[in-house]
Amino acid sequence: MSLNIEQIYKDCDALLEGHFILSSGNHSAKYLQSAKVLEDPKRAERLCKELAKLIKQSGLQIDTVCAPALGGVIAGYELARALGARSIFVERKDGLMSLRRGFEVSEGENILICEDIITTGGSAMEAAAVIERNGARVVAFAALANRGFCAKVGDNATAKPECKLPADKPLFALKNFEFEIYNLNDCPLCKEGLAAIKPGSR
Ligand code: ZN
Repeated sequence: MSLNIEQIYKDCDALLEGHFILSSGNHSAKYLQSAKVLEDPKRAERLCKELAKLIKQSGLQIDTVCAPALGGVIAGYELARALGARSIFVERKDGLMSLRRGFEVSEGENILICEDIITTGGSAMEAAAVIERNGARVVAFAALANRGFCAKVGDNATAKPECKLPADKPLFALKNFEFEIYNLNDCPLCKEGLAAIKPGSR
């Protein structure tokens, strides 16, 4: 891999180090603020070109990249550009993910679901369900960062039980960011007396 992904995340404060309260309520010494890595369009382009390279190497033909809004939209758009594919997104309406704004998919269309970060893959699977309900085919998943619950192409690791992505479809990602997660009662940072902060929306 020609890019040092971890360094890129650190350089733009997308990879934070400290003492964090996760949305699950658990604590961690590291936190990914994924949107930060995409605030520079040139950096977004560079990262998505690298991700596109992995997808092209696999030989998969992608017609359309679909991202779950809001988190996946920028990565999905840049990835579509790098792949020469169409870019669409699905979004929540009344809590349910759906295709809106005139976006359509057709039978036989090969669709890749793209996120900025894959944790357990819940939103990605909701997006995939929308695509399949509308008659197209989801052939792969992609994300810039993988939190290590799901197994990306090129890893020998198998997915953890928390992973919701199907085992028979590839997940392309630039890097695994696997952080240690501490139970509130068992957090070494709390024991050191360090104040924990709750970062903004992931
Ligand atoms: Zn703690």
